[in-house]
Amino acid sequence: MNPTRAMCLGIAITAVACVAAAPPRIGVFDLKATGGQGADVAGLVSGLAKEGYSVETFRSLQPLDLLRFDIVVLSDMHNPGNVGDGWRRNIETYVASGGSVLQTWHHHILGQVSCGVQRVYGSRGMHIVPGHPAVAGCEDFQATFTDHIVEKVGPAGTVLIRNDAEQPVAAAGSLGKGKVISTGLALAIPNGQATRPPRGAELRLLKSFLDWLKPDVPAAERLAAALKTPRLEISPPRALIVAGFPAVFTVYVGAPTAEPIAVTCDGATVTAEPADELGEAGMLRTFRVEVSTAAQKAETREFHIHAQVGGRVLESVVRVESIYTPPPKNERRGVWLHVGDDRHPKDVMPELKRLGLGMAVLRIAGGTAAFYASKVQPDVQDPLAADGGDWLAEAVKHAHANGIEIHPYVNNCIVEGRTSQESLQGLRAAGRLQAGPDGRPIDWFCPSQEANLAAIERPMLEIVSRYEVDGVQYDFIRYPNSQGCFCAKCRARFERETGAPVADWPKDVLEGERHQQWVEFRCERISAIVQRISTRIREVNPKVRISAAVFADWPQCRESVGQDWARWCREGWLDAVCPMNYTHDSAAFAAKAAAHRAAVPTGFPILQGIGIAAGTGTMHAPEHVALHIALARQAGAAGFLGFCYRPEHTSALLLPLRDWLQ
Ligand SMILES: [Zn+2]
Repeated sequence: MNPTRAMCLGIAITAVACVAAAPPRIGVFDLKATGGQGADVAGLVSGLAKEGYSVETFRSLQPLDLLRFDIVVLSDMHNPGNVGDGWRRNIETYVASGGSVLQTWHHHILGQVSCGVQRVYGSRGMHIVPGHPAVAGCEDFQATFTDHIVEKVGPAGTVLIRNDAEQPVAAAGSLGKGKVISTGLALAIPNGQATRPPRGAELRLLKSFLDWLKPDVPAAERLAAALKTPRLEISPPRALIVAGFPAVFTVYVGAPTAEPIAVTCDGATVTAEPADELGEAGMLRTFRVEVSTAAQKAETREFHIHAQVGGRVLESVVRVESIYTPPPKNERRGVWLHVGDDRHPKDVMPELKRLGLGMAVLRIAGGTAAFYASKVQPDVQDPLAADGGDWLAEAVKHAHANGIEIHPYVNNCIVEGRTSQESLQGLRAAGRLQAGPDGRPIDWFCPSQEANLAAIERPMLEIVSRYEVDGVQYDFIRYPNSQGCFCAKCRARFERETGAPVADWPKDVLEGERHQQWVEFRCERISAIVQRISTRIREVNPKVRISAAVFADWPQCRESVGQDWARWCREGWLDAVCPMNYTHDSAAFAAKAAAHRAAVPTGFPILQGIGIAAGTGTMHAPEHVALHIALARQAGAAGFLGFCYRPEHTSALLLPLRDWLQ
């Protein structure tokens, strides 16, 4: 907290003018700290701080934590993680008492103003609806992210922005004493995954929103109204932990007047945070409560946390569940790895050995590109090429010298970002790339064309025939999303295979009575690629083990991206499957891992993908990785793969776990 502001709040009960002069305190909810699903907020927070805002992250969504802020920013509330059941009501109460909320992208609360209802793909044009102070001075603009979510505006909402189809994309309104802006724009999330400092038109818009959202009710008044009696809150509400690691809780205690506050908990270590959160008045204090757990012992224990506030004692119970499952025999432990100047195999492979890992899954090609000395890919981008070297040959050599299995992987169906402009233009001109339902180009291989199947096959076969690899892996073996491929060739093939023309194309297959046929048709296109290439690999190199990196949301990925991967396991086209189970939410990870186990034949090897540094965020605590490894073991996985290796980060995460892994 800003110390000046802290002092200001402390005396603000009697000096309201002080609060009015202070800049609003902005709290950005940190999904990653609670294991929620959505974009990392670090870029948004650093961007706002750079613009001079008083901004920090918060994690509990409980009343005392919310009350610390004038404006709360909820950047993606699809699944906020381990925050307890009352979070929606807490936010409503916070707004009713005079706090402000800016909710962006996925948001499903405060519908009296507005909430998001439908995602629109590939449309950036945004039009300001003049007249509301929240958009005063703003002009029409292009959103930085390609997609947005349309709003359903409630009785208290006023539309601020409309898209090209004149649907509402932002609305503002007052609820009780507070103010709300809801927008389906992914403000500051240009790639849909992680925030970055906002700029340009979106920065101007954000500033205008925040300006309007400054609360009318002074912070001190809101605090006094909410804290008529002492309160005790604990975050997170429950802890799931690997046996042998500590569980840590943050305890907030609020009191209406300055009184001594103490927290105790039998069996735990309690540490008071160094300063009163709200200054001399002592209205809000925080404590750290740490509970240790026994190694290699699964158990659930309850702890009673007592807060003494003056003469009163408040009590709350927290549950600590520690899990333990012994590792499977010959557990497969590895990382996904990219080619790059700072990660030469001569350095990386000994490091993986030091970390107790035995498997390197190395991205070596994608689309028309190869990051090795390929003779079949048009765009060779091997960093060693200038000196006549071959990255893949180096990787094989150094992996085997260190007892590491090497499994190169290829981004099979995607072309964009992995090609030269020349190749891209050539493929577009030849009609070999996908088309969206509106005909717009999607730079992925259309899976209905022999030339494309051959192009996807070539590097896979070259890798297993020219190099002494232990395995090979499919990746991006799917459609980009629900939007491809609607080209004339795919339509003709669909009509031929189903034996009936489509009356209203593409509406009938997108949402009409032919939709289920369309889902199966898309699955069949991708499965055919796997069947074809795996069959050829078995002929060329029967020893090589074939795996695939697949979407974790089985079976929804059949519909969303045409990825029928459980079938590939049943048919024998794969020897192992690696679901990209990237999430910081341990409960979600465990639920998906269990669904994977149920989806494939008994004993079929599953290597759970753990997102250690993925689009879903970066893990910083070894015990967080250990928890996901333990959950993978609990769900019967044969091993795990971290995505993805970064030279120092991976070592800092995994070296402390070396003994624990065994
Ligand atoms: Zn097509």
